[in-house]
Amino acid sequence: MIELRQLTKTYPMENGRVEALRRIDLNVDEGEFVAVVGSSGSGKSTLLNMLGLLDTWDSGAYRLNGEDVSNLSEGRRARARNRSIGFVFQSFHLLPTKRAWENVALPLTYAGTPRRDRRARAMALLDRLGLADRTDHLPSELSGGQRQRVAIARALVTDPPLILADEPTGNLDSKTTDDVLKLLEEIHREGRTVVVVTHEEEVAQRAARRIVMQDAEIVRDDGREGQKSDRPEESG
Ligand code: ADP
Repeated sequence: MIELRQLTKTYPMENGRVEALRRIDLNVDEGEFVAVVGSSGSGKSTLLNMLGLLDTWDSGAYRLNGEDVSNLSEGRRARARNRSIGFVFQSFHLLPTKRAWENVALPLTYAGTPRRDRRARAMALLDRLGLADRTDHLPSELSGGQRQRVAIARALVTDPPLILADEPTGNLDSKTTDDVLKLLEEIHREGRTVVVVTHEEEVAQRAARRIVMQDAEIVRDDGREGQKSDRPEESG
């Protein structure tokens, strides 16, 4: 589903550029549940942004579902993103003036779904996530856990095969974290591919495969037997 070859991403700095990803090779198969861990600044969020086609890279190739997405125009990138990927962020990224169901329905607007269908699908998903009585609330009227469930519903509303989550439980208490993790597991069991960036051990433990990043590189990947890793680490 995901094939990265020698992907490199740099950001401009005052004096030169900082390398956030250095020649990353990565394959993720359909239906995998992958956790990306590593210390702050190691490149995890940048990797997720690349996988999610949220930003462009300097060099290297990316094939998503067999399609080369390396040199797409902005519009085609947005379409590929909308078709294939659902996002869950630590800070939820909900629109504050939109009701819960409207936030969930938003990706369907971009996809051109008629309004009546959008509402019905948003309502059905919120119902499934236990928020049937919160559909008309604004984000400010919801708890952190409820907001994250709205964000997860929004990620699922277009039925994308790939879910990308960046610290999805970063702002949540332990009970709510557990609820969100169970949801991610359920989403995975449905056959979706899930890639989650996390610094929380509890989150990483749920994933079948763990990728460790350090200084813009993947230094360990326990899901790929025999894959070369030039800096193997001891696990703690
Ligand atoms: P992580 O998610 O592991 O904390 P990031 O991917 O956010 O790491 O960052 C990797 C490196 O790229 C860091 O050195 C960071 O300072 C730098 N970086 C990330 N985003 C930007 C940006 N928008 N502009 C400049 N530098 C950035």
